[in-house]
Amino acid sequence: MNDLATMLEPHAHILLKPEDDRTPQLADYHVMVLLVDDQAMVCEAVRRALINQTDIDFHYCSDAREALSLANQLRPTVILQDLVMPGIDGLTLVGQFRANAATKDIPIIVLSTNENPQVKGQAFAMGANDYLVKLPDKIELIARIRYHSKAYLNQLQRDAAYRALRESQQQLIESNSTLVALNQRLEETTLAKSEFLANMSHEIRTPMNGVIGMTALLLDTELTDEQREYVEATRSSADALLTIINDILDFSKIESGKLELENHPFELHACIEEALDLLAPKAAEKKLDLAYIVDDAIPKILVSDVTRLRQILVNLIGNAVKFTHNGEVVIEVTPAAHGARTIEPGHEHDTDFIRHPEQWLLHFSVRDTGIGIPLEKQSRLFKSFQQVDASTTRHYGGTGLGLAICKRLTELLSGKIWVDSAAGQGSTFHFTALAKSAATTAPPNWQTPQPQLADKRLLVVEDNETNRRIIRHRAEQWGMQVECVTNSRDALARLEASPLDAAILDLQLPGMDGLALADQIRKRPAGRYLPLLLLSSVRLRSDDTRPFLSGISVFVHKPIRSAQLLDALCRAMNVQLQREKKAPSAPALDATFAKRLPLRLLLVDDNLINQKVGLSVLQKLGYRADVANNGLEVLQALEQKAYDIIFLDVQMPEMDGLEATRRIRERWPVEKRPCIIAMTGNALLGDREKCLAAGMDDYISKPVRIAELQNALERWGPPRARKTDTSFFSRTAALSRESLLDESILAELREMSSSDGVNIVRELVDLFLEGAPQRIAQINESLADPPKLAFQAHALKSMSLNLGAKRIVEICQQLEELGRTGNVAGVPELLRELDLALNQTRVHLLPLRDE
Ligand code: ADP
Repeated sequence: MNDLATMLEPHAHILLKPEDDRTPQLADYHVMVLLVDDQAMVCEAVRRALINQTDIDFHYCSDAREALSLANQLRPTVILQDLVMPGIDGLTLVGQFRANAATKDIPIIVLSTNENPQVKGQAFAMGANDYLVKLPDKIELIARIRYHSKAYLNQLQRDAAYRALRESQQQLIESNSTLVALNQRLEETTLAKSEFLANMSHEIRTPMNGVIGMTALLLDTELTDEQREYVEATRSSADALLTIINDILDFSKIESGKLELENHPFELHACIEEALDLLAPKAAEKKLDLAYIVDDAIPKILVSDVTRLRQILVNLIGNAVKFTHNGEVVIEVTPAAHGARTIEPGHEHDTDFIRHPEQWLLHFSVRDTGIGIPLEKQSRLFKSFQQVDASTTRHYGGTGLGLAICKRLTELLSGKIWVDSAAGQGSTFHFTALAKSAATTAPPNWQTPQPQLADKRLLVVEDNETNRRIIRHRAEQWGMQVECVTNSRDALARLEASPLDAAILDLQLPGMDGLALADQIRKRPAGRYLPLLLLSSVRLRSDDTRPFLSGISVFVHKPIRSAQLLDALCRAMNVQLQREKKAPSAPALDATFAKRLPLRLLLVDDNLINQKVGLSVLQKLGYRADVANNGLEVLQALEQKAYDIIFLDVQMPEMDGLEATRRIRERWPVEKRPCIIAMTGNALLGDREKCLAAGMDDYISKPVRIAELQNALERWGPPRARKTDTSFFSRTAALSRESLLDESILAELREMSSSDGVNIVRELVDLFLEGAPQRIAQINESLADPPKLAFQAHALKSMSLNLGAKRIVEICQQLEELGRTGNVAGVPELLRELDLALNQTRVHLLPLRDE
């Protein structure tokens, strides 16, 4: 016993290892036993039982009072607990283990000599997990120790896992709420930033408009050439600055969710043409070919937001023109997908089908042959305020906002935008947009076969492949036989080979240009009477006599418009155009319009693109209009300067057009206030009435057509323009209608009109009123060049003959003769008469248009 007592020091824990002290094998759990027993013998017996179990640590405590603190230190995986001990009852100790946080779950096996089931029951009730009668069998003891340890360790593991899970859950919740808070802050700051930008841009725009308005005023005063140059430069810098500010404003409007889409019917062709019109001068300057192709399957009239669609196109075409030095820019539209519903048999008359418009996902592409964009830089393209690289910006200018705006706009139109490009290989920007087809309409005339052109042989001389493709596609659709060559030499060879019915010559051909080619063609018997059309991207000056001398009477302007091409071919070949309604001809722009009707114009629209379109149309008529962005700015502008006509958008932020009209009428008496013409995209019934009720004088619908604008200017301009000088009119006696017009010719024309349903009188009157002033201006400019004067007088005479404008014909005849003989002394007097005759003829012609 003593031996044992020295060997097993009481209160000590002893690690019992086999003699050779082998490293324990790696078990998936590690057992640690604490035996609490006052009898050294029992301890020795248990020690021996466990001695060969390498994964079991054995600890022993003989003093029950120290058992708890030892267990606290050791954390055994199982406690063997004697039931009867001096000083403390084993069951009480079990209770203490259970009450102590560190030991409360450690399995306890009670060891007892007592086999009484009642005592066993008490032990379990106090929290023991097992009960063994001393001394237990070795195998059973080990099995129970292992079993309880494993269960305990499993539980510990589970608890740890749960704790870890809870902790990470908690962390997740915390980081999530931090994220939500951050996100909210971010959203708030983005919104605040966008609103700030919107406000700032707006604030900057107001004084900018002041600068622009004042420079415009300054330009109207007497200036030396040098001063004028400086003021012009100020004006164009201010315009450029305004464009940037408008971009930022637009962008921040989209970002802060303040941009609302309109949904109105529009013509897709017109939308593309308007975008191209804006950029055509720049493209022509750089000698780039512009072309567009719209798949015939796409309905002519669609419903979507035409302003935004045009804005995207203007941006992309603008970039394409900007980054291309030679070659072409081609816009193509194809259906990407479309919700066609096949009509089930027996439901052909299903009105529901007709009433429900179809959805079209349109795929637009803008392809250029420019500098291209390296692949690695393409990902930055559609991000705001980023350009491909800083040197591009320095070289080409720009804010880097254009494409970001396009991206947002395409998303608003339920589409996507992307790019295909490589450095030095040109770029193609693609985007899709959703539109609905409006009420079903018959395909336009120029998409159907034309019997009058059937089997006619057409030669196309054009080096640009896209244009050859466009002309060939259309002309073959009309039934013509088309042959294409790319240069003048081949054209002349083809001319000699076999007869042709017409030829289209590109003006800018490599080597011999289109005009020189026309001269050559005329010199050959096969070409003497061949109808020739000239295809050009630059508008020739109307006093350029070269086409006239080469016998070219018909022009086709690039980008090629199918309707115009058909019209031009029929005119050149002198065949009747089969049509339901007038094919829109190339807008006849009269650059002298403003000279004839000098007016101070104010264009009011909050949308930048609408402003640009409006301004450029007015500019083509020779006007330099000022711009305001909303009603408030209109009132400010009117305080500073008098205007003759205001073109006023109806829906605008700050103060809309209706309110602005009411304020203008309150503030200025009738003779002092400008004429107000509404311009709105809402082609809804009742809109017109609303505008007129608010006090506007007239109404034109957007998109604004040149002819409509011209008509409005004609209608409302004269009394105001004449305000400046009415003396001439009061001095002159009116000429009678009989002396001005040949009634028999007019009667013939009316006859023709009624027979084929087309109002020819109206067309001719419009053409005449558009063309005549231009010719007169040119006659005025040719005083020093009698042959040219004769040519211009002759031209005016021929167009006047068609309409029976006989007084003008007479004067032209005299002018032509004077020009021929070189005796120009009497010309100024005749010119005064000519002006008078034209003014008075107009008075009689205008009512005829609407008969
Ligand atoms: P910016 O107002 O600067 O033109 P954009 O967002 O419209 O802004 O264009 C961003 C940049 O993308 C341009 O600066 C240019 O580097 C590049 N880029 C856009 N379009 C083209 C293109 N057609 N060809 C080559 N580079 C282009």
